[in-house]
Amino acid sequence: MEEETGKQFGSDNDPLLVSVRSGAAVSMPGMMDTVLNLGLTDKAVEGLATISGNRRFALDAYRRLLNMFGDVVMGVPHDAFEEEFDRIKEQHGVTLDTDLNEEGLDQLIAAYKAVYRKHTGEEFPQDPYLQMQKAVEAVFKSWNIPRAIRYREINEITGLLGTAVNVQSMVFGNMGDDSGTGVAFTRDPSTGLNEFYGEFLVNAQGEDVVAGIRTPQNVTEMVHWRKDIYEQLLDVKRILENHYREMQDIEYTIERGNLYLLQTRTGKRTGFAAVKIAVEMVVEGRITRNEAMMRVPANDLNQLLLPTFDPSAAREVLTTGLPASPGACFGMLAFSADEAVDRTHEGEAVLLVRKETSPEDISGMHAAAGILTSTGGMTSHAAVVARGWGKCCVAGAGEITINEADRTITINGRTFGDRDTLSIDGSTGEVMAGKVATQDPQLSDEFDSLMEWADEHRKLGVRTNADTPADAARARSYGAEGIGLCRTEHMFFEGERITEMREMILAENQEDRITALDKLLPHQREDFKGIFTAMAGLPVTVRLLDPPLHEFLTHEKHLQAELAERLGLPVEKIEARVAQLHESNPMLGHRGCRLSITYPEILEMQVTAITEAAIECQQEGVEARPEIMIPLVGTAKELDLLRQRVERTIALTARNRGITDLVEIPVGTMIEIPRAALTADQVAEHADFFSFGTNDLTQMTFGYSRDDINSFLPHYLRQEILERDPFQSIDVSGVGQLVEMAVSKGRIIDENMKMGICGEHGGDPASISFCHDIGLNYVSCSPFRVPIARLAAARRRLNKGLNKNGTRRRRRVRRG
Ligand code: PEP
Ligand code: MG
Repeated sequence: MEEETGKQFGSDNDPLLVSVRSGAAVSMPGMMDTVLNLGLTDKAVEGLATISGNRRFALDAYRRLLNMFGDVVMGVPHDAFEEEFDRIKEQHGVTLDTDLNEEGLDQLIAAYKAVYRKHTGEEFPQDPYLQMQKAVEAVFKSWNIPRAIRYREINEITGLLGTAVNVQSMVFGNMGDDSGTGVAFTRDPSTGLNEFYGEFLVNAQGEDVVAGIRTPQNVTEMVHWRKDIYEQLLDVKRILENHYREMQDIEYTIERGNLYLLQTRTGKRTGFAAVKIAVEMVVEGRITRNEAMMRVPANDLNQLLLPTFDPSAAREVLTTGLPASPGACFGMLAFSADEAVDRTHEGEAVLLVRKETSPEDISGMHAAAGILTSTGGMTSHAAVVARGWGKCCVAGAGEITINEADRTITINGRTFGDRDTLSIDGSTGEVMAGKVATQDPQLSDEFDSLMEWADEHRKLGVRTNADTPADAARARSYGAEGIGLCRTEHMFFEGERITEMREMILAENQEDRITALDKLLPHQREDFKGIFTAMAGLPVTVRLLDPPLHEFLTHEKHLQAELAERLGLPVEKIEARVAQLHESNPMLGHRGCRLSITYPEILEMQVTAITEAAIECQQEGVEARPEIMIPLVGTAKELDLLRQRVERTIALTARNRGITDLVEIPVGTMIEIPRAALTADQVAEHADFFSFGTNDLTQMTFGYSRDDINSFLPHYLRQEILERDPFQSIDVSGVGQLVEMAVSKGRIIDENMKMGICGEHGGDPASISFCHDIGLNYVSCSPFRVPIARLAAARRRLNKGLNKNGTRRRRRVRRG
């Protein structure tokens, strides 16, 4: 660097100044530390003043070093410096940092040194090599500061040893009005539009932009300041995109009219932008379709499937800020990151309102429904991080005054407190009173193209978990190829049915139970008809009743009294039945197929309803394709017995209806008890298909109650005993081993046996990869995750041909 710049590190006359920056293998904007202007000392600052002919600039650079070095390297509170700055600005009657004159800066440097001394017990080091050594160490260590750790947790960044440290020669954007600094993206990271996007500040250093301290100008306004530089930047966009074939996030500085690029990296973007950029780059001929699919993390599609504000809904716009990260969200106001975390935990939707967000706030930003700031621009770290998560954010809404002390904000004379709800539109920057109505998302042509390509490449089928016609229809419009799990118990909670269900449970003998079930049957039949119709031509796996019966009774005394009155029964009888049904471990109790063994009439009613619905659909020309699934099987014998009962009921129902040409209804089982997996070959003798219920399988393999993990799971994750919540992402080595074993054992009996997964894991990209690898036929997930599963399945298939670093796997050539 000395050779290239002709300056010397440690020189008093013409010092080479450097920055010490972090640089991890994965971009973590603003999460680690940086020190600028390293190499300045009491003597060198005068040398810099002479050689630059600008003493004010030299002093400004020195005070920044004192502040950053003190804060980042020595742990001096940033506020201690800020207080001095505010005091001296006030003394000089100025409000902007840039208006403080040389005399003020001299004073400030003395004050900063005193702050440094007070908090560290030593003088600011006058040896540049010592500064360097300490700064390098501090930046290495900043890998482990809490916000960096939290960011990696949230983004599931694991397996990295730490950050690199870059030492780079300084250029200065604060050398006067012909200098400046900024951040830019080669395409719009919110929408993906192919437009240069960015911000800049005249006469400033980079930290001022990314830290969100001053609200910068839009880069398109640069033409009024320096048209030549704006044009150079457009050239940079072209060169970088041609080279990287990817959208770039750049930091640049203009020093006395010369443009310097400080860094470039692949830019963070929203899910919208990810899809648009990837598909447009295919159209531009920069990348292939396969590369496009590999560039959109499947989970990012989630954002495209979220509601937007209804344009025709009434809205009272209070003010407009910068549209920093798109989305439509509403919430009550929270004034600190911790508050946002706590209140979200308690089930509230909150908007985190801050003057500016600092990287320290990331937990709160992640928890909150949305983020609203009164200063800061669209390229501040807060905005970049929010976009990376697809979290709605409106920044720099300057008309908002935040009164932290009394926990209110004021917007143009109106005051709102922590119980008030506001809505923010991250695509327009509008801040609105109350909760504005939303509408279903409008999917773009680019989304459709990407999905089409994914369908061409995936091998795994994608079904949905749905138990209403509306959910079934929605999932179908998202590309579901059938229903993998229709949980029938949800149907018993609606309206009158819950009373009929309770009547059935309270019945004292089989005869009374059958009378109650007869009342439920027509409701079930209509439900199934609706679902079969919504999924006409596609398979619908209906699971027989699964939860323990006590879940349908009420445990509250006053409701029990009401029920007694309605059914004309003594309340004591209800209390006694509730007590009788009580179980210590209901998840391991009288549920699933055990109910059908003890109360065969429940199975018979459900199977009759399914069969009658199929018959009626058939008669109306609707192609119904039901499949009947028995839950919680642990032994082959259970399935053997129940299957016979199901088949008898189907045959009887068809006969009663005078039908001879009923389409065959396959009968299969869930594999969700470890014993069923271990004996899958025996179970397979009686099953037409397997569907892995990995929720229960995880519960029973780990011995963790699904409903009670919150008391210990966070500790397990923090202490890295578990890498992930095994209920969200399948535990490949344990639970996965059982699934894989069951697949092979089942296929010994029937090599073409259809096998799928219907636990929550069916919508999780990592688990979907596993399902692809072990040769399942389909995954089934909630309607909103269907497109995610389609893309994840294609990505896994494509990825199989790639190395870890994303390059194509090459055949090993034997040498010699
Ligand atoms: C399962 O156990 O994975 C499953 C799908 O069933 P449920 O969640 O209803 O128990
Ligand atoms: Mg289950």
